[in-house]
Amino acid sequence: MSAAKGGGPISQEIFQRALSVIPGGVNSPVRAFEAVGGMPVVFARGEGAYLTDVDGNRYVDHVLSWGALIVGHAHPHVVEAVGEALSGGTSFGAPCPDETALAEAIRTAMPSMERVRMVNSGTEAVMSALRLARAFSSRDRVIKFQGCYHGHADSMLVRAGSGVATLGLPDSPGVTKGAVSDTLVADFNDLDSVRRLFEQYRDQIAAVIVEPVAGNMGLVLPSEGFLEGLRALTRQEGALLIFDEVMTGFRVGPGGAQGHFGVTPDLTTLGKVIGGGLPVGAFGGRADIMGGLAPSGPVYQAGTLSGNPLVMRAGLATLKCLDEAGAWDRLEENSRRITGILQSAADSAGVPLQTSSIGGMFGYFFAERLVTDWTSAATSDRARFARFYHAMLVEGVYLAPSPFEAGFVSTVHGEREAAVFEAAVGLAFRDSR
Ligand code: PLP
Repeated sequence: MSAAKGGGPISQEIFQRALSVIPGGVNSPVRAFEAVGGMPVVFARGEGAYLTDVDGNRYVDHVLSWGALIVGHAHPHVVEAVGEALSGGTSFGAPCPDETALAEAIRTAMPSMERVRMVNSGTEAVMSALRLARAFSSRDRVIKFQGCYHGHADSMLVRAGSGVATLGLPDSPGVTKGAVSDTLVADFNDLDSVRRLFEQYRDQIAAVIVEPVAGNMGLVLPSEGFLEGLRALTRQEGALLIFDEVMTGFRVGPGGAQGHFGVTPDLTTLGKVIGGGLPVGAFGGRADIMGGLAPSGPVYQAGTLSGNPLVMRAGLATLKCLDEAGAWDRLEENSRRITGILQSAADSAGVPLQTSSIGGMFGYFFAERLVTDWTSAATSDRARFARFYHAMLVEGVYLAPSPFEAGFVSTVHGEREAAVFEAAVGLAFRDSR
């Protein structure tokens, strides 16, 4: 592997050009290498579990388009489905059978989503779900959790995770005080912090929105009873519970985090996997709440390209692959194998490391103590992460370039890729001490 820090010469040349025409050279901030230094790698191709950069270097991919590619890059069934859709016209701006088929598949997997509306990104799904929740409850305020990321809609850019946390941004300039004045922030895994807000703002809180498994401050699992507690509290206080499953939907298990933990939200947002690598989002939930959406009800929400056959077919083909026998076992085994490799290398090198995994997601923090929320995530050793990151990159493993992002595996990652990972980790721990 010849990749220098931040890709080879062709990668660097292309990124220099990008810098002069695209702000920061990237179309989404966390793609930049701000947290680890150096330049992002410019990629030419993705196949299965691998990415190839423009200089011809090959990497085992554990970003997988930030979790979207659960069956790997260019899966033959997805390629075939998209090809067929392409030749039949990509968007009608009118109903098509595939949008109904995907909505049905989603409802079968997540029965709480009695009605589903397709949109074009996770951001849009969250923005629309919040509008609907406020309209349904005739209340304005919303509780979110520090370190959780729900896309870049104005009202959610308050102490957010993902790129906002990676870049250490406070709250984004350009977001008016008015836009966030109804957003309240609690601590993940701390029910008391939620209780206090409900006491302070009695009868004013429309909804609590949460990543049921937090994946945007690194991977942080919900403590026992946390999601159940949110369910009980929201019910008691007459507020809606929104699970943002943009990352966890069809990623932590076939029924999402709600299926895994057995907690039923009122509304759910989805994205990533259900689009098979094409732009997508969806939101859905209780029929009585979703009935408020235009044209059934007064809450406006719309989209020129929403539910187009190209994306719907890619999503349907992806979900079909996940239905194959053993797919979920493989995903779980793959993530456990990754965290096992990381933990044992760290233990033998005497490096403090906290690892966790669930379904097809894994996480690791260079931290002394268990990470349970943003405050503990933020104590992790960022300099060590950056050294580790580059050592892995040079050895042909592409990880998210931030200590505050989750890692992903696909159904096509296997023993060969784990062996590359293990060899890289051995060298990385030697080099990053
Ligand atoms: N919600 C969660 C939990 C996410 O992880 C993301 C993106 O990473 C979003 C919302 C926003 O989705 P999108 O990037 O498709 O707008």
